[in-house]
Amino acid sequence: KLIVFEGVEGSGKTTQIQKCQEWLQNCDRLGGASVVVTREPGGTELGVGLRRLLLEGHRDLIHDRAELFLYASDRSQHVEEVLKPQLAKGAIILCDRYTDSTVAYQAYGRGLNINLINQLNQLATDNLESDLTLWLDIEVEIGLERARQRGAIDRMEQADLAFHQLVQQGYQELAAAYPQRIVRVDASKSQEEVQAQIQEILREKLG
Ligand code: C5P
Ligand code: MG
Repeated sequence: KLIVFEGVEGSGKTTQIQKCQEWLQNCDRLGGASVVVTREPGGTELGVGLRRLLLEGHRDLIHDRAELFLYASDRSQHVEEVLKPQLAKGAIILCDRYTDSTVAYQAYGRGLNINLINQLNQLATDNLESDLTLWLDIEVEIGLERARQRGAIDRMEQADLAFHQLVQQGYQELAAAYPQRIVRVDASKSQEEVQAQIQEILREKLG
């Protein structure tokens, strides 16, 4: 199963994935399936390099369309090198960001054509969709403050509220458009409460 975690900066994706991994690994109903944690960008060796290009240093020198293709490149490598082989082995994959991030950030955030992005996502994933996407929904200001406190973003990025509001709007509209695949989690609660919601959803959806 491919389970994806999505949400704006500071929504707690990485933390919740770690907790979820521990929970699943101690779950005896798994029947020997392994639990794999991975992320985009950066889930492969190529991806680590692409992540560095995308997120460190000269971000402002990368044109929006060039950025889009780097994310797509990261994704196609990730699908072939990690996701497909692990799914073939029956693993449960917990993936930090996937196709919805590109819709939210590059289409809603940066204003690139959404039809183009949907097509590019299909191409990059070879039509591999998540079985379930958990949208960790948090108010943008709160998420950005959390992210700044742990040093994940700087004050300039935190100040770019309008961009992150657009990204948030992207997630809202995606969740409304794909209610079967995307389940909203109230990420404003404590870490324990958020994890409890996630476990409840996984029990219900995946048995
Ligand atoms: O928190 P995480 O490690 O996922 O951070 C990845 C960064 O990449 C975030 O700052 C996010 O703004 C950015 N990103 C993006 N477009 C994507 C995926 C991630 O701008 N499609
Ligand atoms: Mg994270």
